[in-house]
Amino acid sequence: MSKFHINTQCIQEGYSPKNGEPRVLPIVQSTTYKYDSSVEVGKLFDLEEDGFFYSRIGNPTVDAVEKKIAALEGGVGALLTAAGMSSIMIAVLNICSAGDHIVSSAAIYGGTMNLFTVTLKRFGIDVTLVQPDVSEEELRKAVRPNTKVIYAETIANPSLCIVDLSMFATVAHDNDIPFMVDNTFATPVNCKPFEFGADVVVHSTSKYMDGHAVALGGVIVDGGTFNWANGKFPGLSTPDDSYHGVIYTEHFKEAAYISKARLQLMRDMGVTPSANSAFLLNLGLETLPLRMERHCYNAQKVAEFLEASEYVTWVNFPGLKSCKFHEMAEKYMPNGTCGVISFGLVGGREAATKFMDSLKLASIVVHVADARTSVLHPASTTHRQLTDAQLEECGVGADLIRMSIGIEYIDDIIDDIKQAFDVIYNK
Ligand SMILES: *Cc1c(COP(=O)(O)O)cnc(C)c1O
Repeated sequence: MSKFHINTQCIQEGYSPKNGEPRVLPIVQSTTYKYDSSVEVGKLFDLEEDGFFYSRIGNPTVDAVEKKIAALEGGVGALLTAAGMSSIMIAVLNICSAGDHIVSSAAIYGGTMNLFTVTLKRFGIDVTLVQPDVSEEELRKAVRPNTKVIYAETIANPSLCIVDLSMFATVAHDNDIPFMVDNTFATPVNCKPFEFGADVVVHSTSKYMDGHAVALGGVIVDGGTFNWANGKFPGLSTPDDSYHGVIYTEHFKEAAYISKARLQLMRDMGVTPSANSAFLLNLGLETLPLRMERHCYNAQKVAEFLEASEYVTWVNFPGLKSCKFHEMAEKYMPNGTCGVISFGLVGGREAATKFMDSLKLASIVVHVADARTSVLHPASTTHRQLTDAQLEECGVGADLIRMSIGIEYIDDIIDDIKQAFDVIYNK
């Protein structure tokens, strides 16, 4: 079905009912599946036949959504997980063990930063952080013989930095390692990282993909083009004793990476999404292109309004010409970036708090990227575990207000900001 435009794929991919079956993707609320003979179940376990046997490994509702997202990104397979964090954890652990090393952009989500610099370190996996605007030469220097992956976000949360995807991919491939990209903010509607050389894409589907803030989720998508049999990834190219000695690169060919993630790590870790969450995610995906268009339109208007305001010290939105990452946005996301804006107010940290407390339409939530306009001060919430130096390193100043522009009517959103400015500055 991949010949269709992404707007059509968002509706049609993943589920094709046969004669008399439900038109809408059913919620298969069952942990297990019945078979007529033990021989058949044995064949499923031996990977000789396709089919569902236990919902930790696969479920028909989840499977349909995985197929849809794989199609949207242009990958060969996908694995849904219970949250974005578990997709990043599995995506990295699928190719990194104790003694290995990651090179990551420093401009990443706070949770990912903790995973890389604290939790994975406890597992013996080391990380080197590079600035999102790192030069090719510097990036090459950060790679070590034991580096197994280069990692970045297409649009960083919350700093909105955009890395040079093609350059990162080139450096990774010159070192025989994959380039892994968190595409949560751009979504495949605005950016398809595989087209720029990424090998694995991860998402927090809890954001725009779900779009209504109703279901946590994550997904790993396998681009299917990386050569895992190049000697650097024995976990994929030598027998897996924990799974009847299967050699993933031989048995699953171009889907080796995603198959190992499912059969080995999802089996052992069980960070499985519920069928109900997958159903809700699927509903969100159906309207993703419409919503992204409106999020981007509204955010552009708000960013332009803020830039023209005397109360605003700086605005960061990749759609603004003044943005340091505008050129990267034009190159990799010509149709728009996302609905998230960051900015600072005259009066810094204190004004930020007052501003948020004065908004009436926009609400203070730690979430971003859903239909409702919302606002957050990362330094005192999502990023509060980070030191000032770490905050600076990942591009989040103490005065930074992150505003996630929803799909409400644009004038109402701007009027809300205007009345909050009146409360702070004109009283
Ligand atoms: C929210 C987010 C995550 C974590 O996802 P959860 O679904 O909250 O676990 C990872 N990466 C980015 C860019 C995010 O915005």
